[in-house]
Amino acid sequence: MVTRLHEAPSDVFNPWLHIASLIEQAGHLLGLNEGLIKRIVTPERILEVAVPVRMDSGDIEMFTGWRIQHNSSRGPGKGGIRFHPSVNVDEIAALSADMSIKCAVVNIPYGGAKGGVRVDPALLSRGELERLTRRYAFSIAPMIGPDRDIPAPDINTDPQVMSWIMDTVSMLAGHSLPGVVTGKPLAIGGSLGHAGATSFGVTICTMALLKQLNRPALGERVVIQGYGKVGSPLVKLLSERGMKVVGLADIHGAIHVPDGIDYLKLAAHFEDAKSIMGYPGGDEVHADELFSLPSDIAIPAALGGVIDEKVAEKMSASMMVEAANGPTTGEGAAVLTSRNIQVVPDVLANAGGVVASYFEWAQDLQGFMWEMELVQQRLEKTMHDAFDAVWLRHDQLNLPLRDTALVVGVERIAEATELRGLFP
Ligand code: NAD
Repeated sequence: MVTRLHEAPSDVFNPWLHIASLIEQAGHLLGLNEGLIKRIVTPERILEVAVPVRMDSGDIEMFTGWRIQHNSSRGPGKGGIRFHPSVNVDEIAALSADMSIKCAVVNIPYGGAKGGVRVDPALLSRGELERLTRRYAFSIAPMIGPDRDIPAPDINTDPQVMSWIMDTVSMLAGHSLPGVVTGKPLAIGGSLGHAGATSFGVTICTMALLKQLNRPALGERVVIQGYGKVGSPLVKLLSERGMKVVGLADIHGAIHVPDGIDYLKLAAHFEDAKSIMGYPGGDEVHADELFSLPSDIAIPAALGGVIDEKVAEKMSASMMVEAANGPTTGEGAAVLTSRNIQVVPDVLANAGGVVASYFEWAQDLQGFMWEMELVQQRLEKTMHDAFDAVWLRHDQLNLPLRDTALVVGVERIAEATELRGLFP
């Protein structure tokens, strides 16, 4: 029943087929009828656009881009735009479905969407990047808008790219439309508290998990893979709550610090070295050993697909909180479950960013900016409510948190779809 979007060889992992079959399984578990499951699985709109760009040399280059709206039963589409040479329609479709689930799990009034352009932005000048962004934004403009579909930054796109998209769509409309994208700079309608919101959400989920397991945060040993936009604030946030970050990795390697990293010292070292390697007092270890270091909590906050069967078998921690998107393979997840390692899945753990995006959009629509305290307070409550709802269902269903979160998301999407009925 699952639709193959792209005729890739069947022996190559297809992220779209993977998420589609997971949604189907959740639908069956909930006892939904086949017609409803088909509606929930299938993306509503797939737009492929040709993006011609005049390069600095005067030549014209062609790029391909997509915007996909997966499901809009709970509200307008929400999801990032990525610029990457490996972007393809299956990946974007899979990520759009992930966003439908994520928004439903944290119960914010959005559907799921995602977009991307197949391009290596590192090979473009700033002028070329701006022209590419604006032409892509123009081509997807009929599909996006504050009440239709609201893009945000993702891999290789940032607040500047969002500013160009917002400007392009505003020029087409004839007036400013700050609510068309989130993750904008503050000066044009961005929100306080947006930067760092994902890490804050990961921290809330970590604390909530410890509470459910009756474990005090004080002295819990944490290993983190990644010291970027998500990983670096995490070292500080978890240390401030009494945990010890005993292992850390970035693209250059991994370090082991049995007594716990001093986040201020690390930040100062990173500023000069541009890497965590060489942190005073840290023992260099092989990157593959990070998740085997004696620890209680593992936090992948870098790449997808890193927790495979082998890593899962050797994992020392008894808890894992997925800050990265899709860090665990299907086989890895099965091993973690068989070893009773409690996992807070990505659709819940890293949803703080999209919740902050929701607040930014709400402020833009209201034309009234919130203070930092209000953003943080509401973010904390939304993440707590989401964690509690998934935990409660996990107790009832006796399923791993990953499967439970999917069930909660699909159930909410199904409810909205049924209430709205089928047009015409
Ligand atoms: P980033 O580019 O800022 O940081 C990535 C980090 O990973 C860097 O420290 C880099 O050195 C490290 N890294 C790269 N390759 C590595 C390797 N082979 N081994 C160990 N470390 C490696 O990215 P980010 O925004 O921090 O995102 C990290 C993850 O979190 C991604 O999976 C992303 O999809 C997910 N995520 C991010 C946000 C957000 O708000 N930024 C929101 C939701 C999910």
